[in-house]
Amino acid sequence: MILIAAMAVLLPSLAALQYVWLGQVSEGARERLQASLSANAVRFKQEFNRELIRAYLNFDVYSSSTLDDIEQHQVERSEQWMRTAPYAQLLSDVFIVSSDELGRPHPSQLDASAKKFNLMDWSGDLAGLRERFERQYESARLRREIPPQSSFESFAADIPALIIPFPPLPTDKELNQSVPPPSGFTVITLNLEYMRREFIPSLIRRHFPGASETDYNLAIICRDNPQQVIYFSRHPPEDFTVSDVSLRIFGMDGGELRTLRGDVDAPSAATKQPDNGPMRSRSIVRYIKRPTGGTTAASGEEDGRWQLLIKHQAGSLQAAVRTTRHRNLAISFGILMLLGASMAMTIVTTRRAERLANQQMNFVAGVSHELRTPLAVICSAGENLADRVVSDPRQVTRYGTVIYKEGRRLTEMVEGVLEFAGAQSGRRRYEFRSTQVADLVNGALNACRVQIQEKDFRVEAEIEPNLPTVRGDEAALQRVLQNLISNTIKYNGESRWARLSAQVGAGERGAEVQITVEDRGAGIASIDLPHIFEPFYRGRDAVAAQIQGSGIGLSLVKQIAEAHAGRISVRSAPGVGSAFTLHLPVETQGGEAGEEKS
Ligand code: ADP
Repeated sequence: MILIAAMAVLLPSLAALQYVWLGQVSEGARERLQASLSANAVRFKQEFNRELIRAYLNFDVYSSSTLDDIEQHQVERSEQWMRTAPYAQLLSDVFIVSSDELGRPHPSQLDASAKKFNLMDWSGDLAGLRERFERQYESARLRREIPPQSSFESFAADIPALIIPFPPLPTDKELNQSVPPPSGFTVITLNLEYMRREFIPSLIRRHFPGASETDYNLAIICRDNPQQVIYFSRHPPEDFTVSDVSLRIFGMDGGELRTLRGDVDAPSAATKQPDNGPMRSRSIVRYIKRPTGGTTAASGEEDGRWQLLIKHQAGSLQAAVRTTRHRNLAISFGILMLLGASMAMTIVTTRRAERLANQQMNFVAGVSHELRTPLAVICSAGENLADRVVSDPRQVTRYGTVIYKEGRRLTEMVEGVLEFAGAQSGRRRYEFRSTQVADLVNGALNACRVQIQEKDFRVEAEIEPNLPTVRGDEAALQRVLQNLISNTIKYNGESRWARLSAQVGAGERGAEVQITVEDRGAGIASIDLPHIFEPFYRGRDAVAAQIQGSGIGLSLVKQIAEAHAGRISVRSAPGVGSAFTLHLPVETQGGEAGEEKS
């Protein structure tokens, strides 16, 4: 009882605690995942931007050079890029845009094999930039300086390309006042196909291990035109309206710029321009120092022309964590329920074992008691005879009868116990053969005749004529009826009446013979009724009235009935009487009603 109460309190409390803790653990897990995802995204962005800045700085030039020198310089830079850059194929083409005497911009393209720049039309990738360059040069021609608002973007996201201005022409003005216009531009177009196929996937593999195959979907889109998709990690593309991480990439990152400046400047010292280093630094400082508005490089810390979007496959990180939490909750509640169920089962089993042990004790006590009475009678009768205390022939006959009756009672009792033990252990074998119901009833009545006469009982037998046969072990089935008749006699009170009837009826599995033993005796209390077929169970009234018995009779009846593919049923009301019915399947032609069973 205490255990049940403890369980009733403990299990719900454990469940509640588990619910709360799992909630906290999930929230912690979500935060950790979010933080690590964001950190990975930042590293992705840094490396992505670093490669672009590497290209930018690679082609950055010093101020005091002529166009020819710049062209020569870019040819060398291009060769060096191809030799040393980790993602050399990132660059598609190199162009130079310079102005003629009238201030009109003209593009020329690098012919890498001929190692020179060739003038060209505004066509191909560059066509989209023409208007921007013309506006730029027009403004420069009129004002000789770049108005901050119309500054030239270093990243053309739509092409995509990097636009690197030449350093400005010498001017008297200080750097921090206004920036003089550049004398020309280097335009580097990026190989989008290579980016999609090699560059971006390799960065994803490095910074989101397993992401493309498992948990996360990644996309890179153009910020100005979200319809323009640069990259999708999975096809068909997902809806990225809501994402777990959203980060701008493809822009100048001041930190990266400073780190890389040293790297790129170092090889440039090997070129033939001794003043290259200082001039380059000056040019870069110009682009990263301006806080807002000016060049893209100036606002590069937070800027980027593309958007990196990351979303968990479950819809969002939150949803994924929620799903995991629900799964964990289901598992833990399942375990708790299992625990509860097994404890409940343990309690039930223990109770049953206790009851069984009790019943067995009672059985032993009951059997010993039952044995003691006839044994005592036999012993004293035998002793009297042996000592010749009784010598009168009539008395001797009476003593003989007593010894015979008690001896028979003993035999029956021992047989009952043995039969029960055999049935319990599964060693009992039945001999099935075709059996007439009338034979069964008459045989049982004959066996009980002495008992019936002794108690002055009236037993009516109503056997339907032409009953079908049943298939079974005649002796065992007779024992069933004998048990039922002797119970009727034992528990009959004063009515001294019983009826045996046999008829055909409809059973659950077809036609069956129903043999009923009915009395108008004490009846069975409703509290006992569900248990009377359990081994060793004795009715409370029977125990209270000290009616002799061991509680195995009806359990044996049930076992034998079931071994014949039949069953036993009971109707009883206290003070009215009881009716036990043995249901046996009718023997089918050529087949057995009951199976041979050990
Ligand atoms: P036993 O008769 O040795 O006690 P049984 O297994 O034959 O054991 O019967 C179990 C219990 O069922 C009896 O103790 C008694 O309470 C009840 N019982 C069986 N038959 C009858 C009956 N005809 N009338 C009233 N009670 C009965």
